[in-house]
Order: sequence, then C-alpha cells, then structure tokens
Amino acid sequence: MVADAVVVGAGPNGLTAAVELARAGLSVQVYEAADTVGGGARTEELTLPGFRHDPCSAVHPFGIGSPAFQALPLGRHGLEWLQPQVPMAHPFPDGTAAVLGRTVGETAASLGPRDAVTYRKLMAPYVGHWDSIAADFFRPQWAGIPRDPYRFLRFGLTGTPPAALLALRFRGAKARGMLAGLAGHAISRLSQPFTGAMAMMFALAAHERGWPVARGGSQAISDALAGHLAELGGEIRTGVTVRKLDELPPARAYVFDTSPTALARIAALGDAYRGYRYGPSVFKIDYALDGPVPWTAEAARRAGTIHVGPTYTEIGDALNRAVTGRPPHTPFLITSQPTVVDPSRAPEGKHVFWAYGHVPHDWHGDATDAVERQIERFAPGFRDLVLARAVTGPAGLAARNANYVGGDVACGAFAGLQAVLRPRLAAVPYATRRPGVFLCSSATPPGPGVHGMSGHNAALAVLRHLRRSARR
Ligand SMILES: Cc1cc2nc3c(=O)[nH]c(=O)nc-3n(C[C@H](O)[C@H](O)[C@H](O)COP(=O)(O)OP(=O)(O)OC[C@H]3O[C@@H](n4cnc5c(N)ncnc54)[C@H](O)[C@@H]3O)c2cc1C
Repeated sequence: MVADAVVVGAGPNGLTAAVELARAGLSVQVYEAADTVGGGARTEELTLPGFRHDPCSAVHPFGIGSPAFQALPLGRHGLEWLQPQVPMAHPFPDGTAAVLGRTVGETAASLGPRDAVTYRKLMAPYVGHWDSIAADFFRPQWAGIPRDPYRFLRFGLTGTPPAALLALRFRGAKARGMLAGLAGHAISRLSQPFTGAMAMMFALAAHERGWPVARGGSQAISDALAGHLAELGGEIRTGVTVRKLDELPPARAYVFDTSPTALARIAALGDAYRGYRYGPSVFKIDYALDGPVPWTAEAARRAGTIHVGPTYTEIGDALNRAVTGRPPHTPFLITSQPTVVDPSRAPEGKHVFWAYGHVPHDWHGDATDAVERQIERFAPGFRDLVLARAVTGPAGLAARNANYVGGDVACGAFAGLQAVLRPRLAAVPYATRRPGVFLCSSATPPGPGVHGMSGHNAALAVLRHLRRSARR
C-alpha cells in the first residue's frame, strides 16, 4: 500500500511534521535510526540508576513558546512544563549575578541603574507580543507578509546587527555579559550578524513564556508528540537507519529530519547542498550530584539555566576559539539544573546537572578539567559533590545522532548568510530538487532548538505539494 507520507528521523521536527501531516488526514510512517524516539529531546539514565539525564536539550523557551506545539494537545499526552523561579542566572565571581527574570523589571534591576533603563527601552516594544513575533520569526523570514509588520521590522532592524553592536548600548559588565551569553546560543562569533536577534529572542521568551523544563525530562516532549501521532493513526519504526530512498516503502511524499548532506546521499541529490557548512561542536558533561550545585550567587541556586562566562570579553574569546579551531581554555558554559524544579529526576536529595562548553568542529581533546575549573570559579566545592559523570565530546555526539555532523549540535553553522538562509537560498527551503522529497530538520528555518517549527513549516510545504499534484 502507498503511504501518503514517510518521515525519516523522529527528532522534534520529524515528529512534528508527522503529526501535522496525520492531522491533515494523511497516512504517515516514521523511520528512526535510534531505538527510541526523540533525537535531541530525550532522557536517559546516563550515569547512575535513578538519575534521569537529558543527553541533549533540557530547557525549552522556544518549546513552550512554539506556535506549532501550542496548537497540539501535548498536555493530554503527558507533557507538563515546569518553570524554575529564575529562568536564567549569569553569575560573577564576586557572588553577584545578572538575572534574566520572568519580568523585564526583575531583569533590569539586576543590571544596575543605567543599564536598567537601556534594557527596558530595548525590550518594551515587544513585551506582550510574543505570539506575533514568534509567528513572524519561526518561519522563513523572506516568505510571506509578516503578521505584525511594525514589530517585525523594528525587531529585525535592532537584531540583525551583531550582538557586538547591541552590547555597545550597555555600560556595565553585567548587562554586556548577559547579552553575550544569550547570543552565545548561536555558537558563533559575537560579531556575526543576527546574533543580536538571537539574544533578544531568548530574553523576550523568558519574559513572555519562561524557560521551562519538561517534567520527567525532555523525553516527555518527544513521547507526547509520538503519543499524539499514534492517536492519529501514524506508525513509528525505531532501529532503522535509512541509507537509500528506494529502501523506503512507496509514498507520495518523503520528509527528512536529517542533515542536508545525509539527505543528498540518501535521495541522490548530487551537489544540492555542496556549500552547506557545519560549525563548531560542544563538549558536554552530565553529572549525578550528591546535592545542589553550591553557586556563590544566590539567584543561580534558583535558576533552571546558568550561563558561566562571565564577561563579554571572556565569552567572546571562548566562542572565537571554538569557531577558529583552537582548543578551549576558559570555556563559556551553558549549564542546566532541572532538579531545582523537578526532584523526580534524581533520588531524594540528589541532583542531575549538565554543562557544555564550545569546542572546534570534530575536536578530539578532553575538556573535562577546563569545564570543571570554570564551574568551581562560581561554585566552589562543586567537584566534591560529583557522584558520577558522563562525558561526551564531538565524536560521541556524532555517534549518537547522525545530524550532529562533526559534533555540530546545530546541524549547520550559524555563519554568514547561512545563519538565516538555511539550507540554501530558496523560496521554499524545505523543498528539494527532487519533487516529493522534503527536508524538515533544524538545518531549515527557523533553525536549532526544540520547537518543531521546521517540521511544521515543512509539513505545510508537503501539503501544498500534494494538493498541487492532486490537481494535476
Ligand atoms: C548537548 C545539546 C544540548 C541542547 N540543548 C538544548 C536546549 O536546552 N533547548 C533546546 O531547545 N535545544 C537544545 N538543543 C538543540 C536541540 O536538541 C536540536 O536543535 C533539536 O533536537 C533539533 O531537532 P531535529 O528534529 O531537527 O533533529 P534531531 O533532534 O537531531 O533528530 C533527528 C533524528 O533523526 C534521526 N536520523 C538521522 N538520520 C537518520 C537516518 N538516516 N535514518 C533514520 N533516522 C535518522 C536521528 O537519529 C534523530 O533521532 C541541544 C542539543 C544538544 C546536542
């Protein structure tokens, strides 16, 4: 029997594409290489029994704020967002912290009087407008008319320049450091255009929707998507690595939650993505801890996410080293402590915690000591709490998920125009040169993160294609 659609890869984007197509009444089959669904949104006992770690994503500002997820009954399938008291803290060695709070006011208050005014002016036009801003930014921005043209343009003009320019508006180390840390999620230089928008989107998400974790771990997001898909009649087969298109059953459309280069190999697309570039990697450590991380800064003990930099200069240097192929020295760390809000993730009194720093593409060194020295600067005594650690460098990441080419967790560098024109300049970036074959991974707009919007947008492109084919 010919399926309407076959989806390859059960990451958040593949599952969202499958769900959207099934909701449109199509028969859908999903093939996933790993033994379980989830891709970058999964949960495993990586260290000791009873410690439930997220090997990849843990914190989901764009998940709770995703127009695609908001339209799906994921709560009915077990997804519950848990909000830490503080979305993100950015500690300094003197025991103080910049605090990205649930409100602009709380955040501004942590930045000092002069920068407080600048921060309020920067964010005020967008607060209360998340829905239209998310709708306009989580799609290919060159396609279609924005829902809120005024804010789209204003946000775009402010955010298109690099974070380096945005940082010039601020005077103090706290505001400049916090901005650099938020922009650092792009895994590129702070002088890269569009990193300003990245920082502003993360800040706005904190004020509008929070930076929550999923109760029980990120696997709950993937399981909720898979549960809804099953309810709609979709089928998932795990443990199947797809290597050639003709290994798959006949279908009217194929949707790939893979890297562009893997898709080119599988679907014989030749040099379609020859210019596509992969970026730096990360060095990640998952910890089982005997107690909470002893952050010196009080706000950091209540935060779900802690950015360990601290200054604009240190963060910029750390990112530059990764981008230019030099080993980490004093890494900028993104860390997550879900047990502050979800004690079910570890035995009583114990905690799970992860930290990653940026390293060059396909780097084979060991950054464990560099990572832990950096944590100890802001949380003395941290090492004494470590019960077990699971260490994963670029090779381990790539082995776990074929989309992390050379350990690039963003499935494509945030560099040059590729930062927004992913995977290449095209009116429909999800379509390929082969009719009926589509790409839906984070290599397509709006890019990395667990939000399912690449899958959602790709599914809309598939439905348009099928309608056109039916008319013909
Ligand atoms: C260490 C780390 C931390 C992160 N932290 C966060 C975070 O806190 N918040 C956040 O929002 N995002 C985070 N991310 C990013 C996020 O996980 C990804 O952007 C997101 O998962 C991308 O979704 P996707 O569906 O495009 O791809 P993936 O999630 O990578 O899923 C792709 C799936 O396709 C499968 N696949 C690939 N090739 C084949 C094939 N040939 N045959 C069959 N199956 C195949 C893979 O096995 C995988 O399951 C993090 C990522 C990493 C690695």
